[in-house]
Amino acid sequence: MTNQRKLHIKSYGCQMNVYDAQRMVDTLAPEGFVETANAEDADLVILNTCHIREKAAEKVYSELGRLRLAKDEAARAGRDMRIAVAGCVAQAEGGEIVRRAPVVDVVVGPQSYHHLPQLLEKARREGRAIETEFPVEDKFSALPAPKPAAIRARGVSSFVTVQEGCDKFCTFCVVPYTRGMEVSRPVARIVDDVQRLADNGVREITLIGQNVNAFHGEDENGKPSSLGRLLHRLAAVPGIARLRYSTSHPCDVDDALIEAHRDIPAVMPFVHLPVQSGSDRILAAMNRRHSAADYLRTVERFRKAREEIAFSSDFIVGFPGETEDDFSATLALVAQIGYAGAYSFKYSPRPGTPAAEMRETVTTATMDERLARLQELIDGQQAAFNAAAIGTTVAVLFERAARNPGQIVGRTAYLQPAHVMASADIIGQVLPVAVESLERYSLLGTLAAPSAPLSRAVPPVMTTGA
Ligand code: SF4
Repeated sequence: MTNQRKLHIKSYGCQMNVYDAQRMVDTLAPEGFVETANAEDADLVILNTCHIREKAAEKVYSELGRLRLAKDEAARAGRDMRIAVAGCVAQAEGGEIVRRAPVVDVVVGPQSYHHLPQLLEKARREGRAIETEFPVEDKFSALPAPKPAAIRARGVSSFVTVQEGCDKFCTFCVVPYTRGMEVSRPVARIVDDVQRLADNGVREITLIGQNVNAFHGEDENGKPSSLGRLLHRLAAVPGIARLRYSTSHPCDVDDALIEAHRDIPAVMPFVHLPVQSGSDRILAAMNRRHSAADYLRTVERFRKAREEIAFSSDFIVGFPGETEDDFSATLALVAQIGYAGAYSFKYSPRPGTPAAEMRETVTTATMDERLARLQELIDGQQAAFNAAAIGTTVAVLFERAARNPGQIVGRTAYLQPAHVMASADIIGQVLPVAVESLERYSLLGTLAAPSAPLSRAVPPVMTTGA
């Protein structure tokens, strides 16, 4: 039997990294690794890094400084602690990490983490740090399937990667350089994964990919499938109650995807559709390949197909060259759409991207001021959207016991947390909840009769505030 060893993974960034961290756990489980919450106790620490935020690499180096002390301490206690850096900073920095932080044993990019056991063994055997290049083979076919116990421990909602990488080359983004060109997984493999998850109690699947609706994985007839067709196929898997997908590019919304929202009740009426800016001039500078009017038309197509659909988005404030008029166009677009929520960030340059070379920078003070105005508008819309749920009956997928004793928490179709007093038997079920009040972002209510009709929550469309 393999000796048990402790594994600590610290994951930063997006859903894809959360999913990758789980798959690293699955990859290392046959080697005897079990997860621990404490880096200090671990035999292997993995920093699963993200390159999206500002100074991402510097943050990794300062974390590695702290881990050096833990590694020294472990050595004094006679333990051999190993340290690996994975994720997008690993891909972007490569050998530089090994040079600047000799404490690191393995550097592994997002396409290669299925090789972790071999890389760790190679580092041990050769007594030197090992780094990987982009591989040519398919990572997904090499990854071991998660064990039923691991699936059950992760709860009723699960991510499944359907594609990775991106060919869009938005001028601010590192993804095409760190995750590579767009690659889609075959439909049959995705169906197998979803079937296995459903067999072990998962009720909700979120299909993930950097540009998920560019999905074109090969179907059973050897033809490229669309995301819409994939959703149809997955809705037929017994036990799957809810389907979501993230993150979409407006240009890749096709009729099949819109029709999936119209025809498949399991496809949730909530779409994360980043627009980044409402100004055509800035959208062109970002190489987003669509105008504000194109985006609005896409939103209308969704709404026509399913009236209760709601949207969230991403915004970048202060992109190089953004004028007050450009920013006003963003506020106008937000006011016109009426979002259920959105993420907004100040622009910060990513080394190696075209936008990092743009000279017309916006001052920090201006960015701060614009970000505050945008967030105020979005927060108002989100608050109105949540408040509109009070007095309605909504479907909730119950996920786990809440912190308050006796309370169970779940999520609505729009990912709003919803709390009720109930027994833990309801975990894993989709049940109607009569919403009575709102506590910050959480809905509070009581279980309604299983046959209670659901209300249609139509998102508020705000026409002022820009
Ligand atoms: S579509 Fe998304 S992932 Fe692709 S380059 Fe643009 S921002 Fe990056």
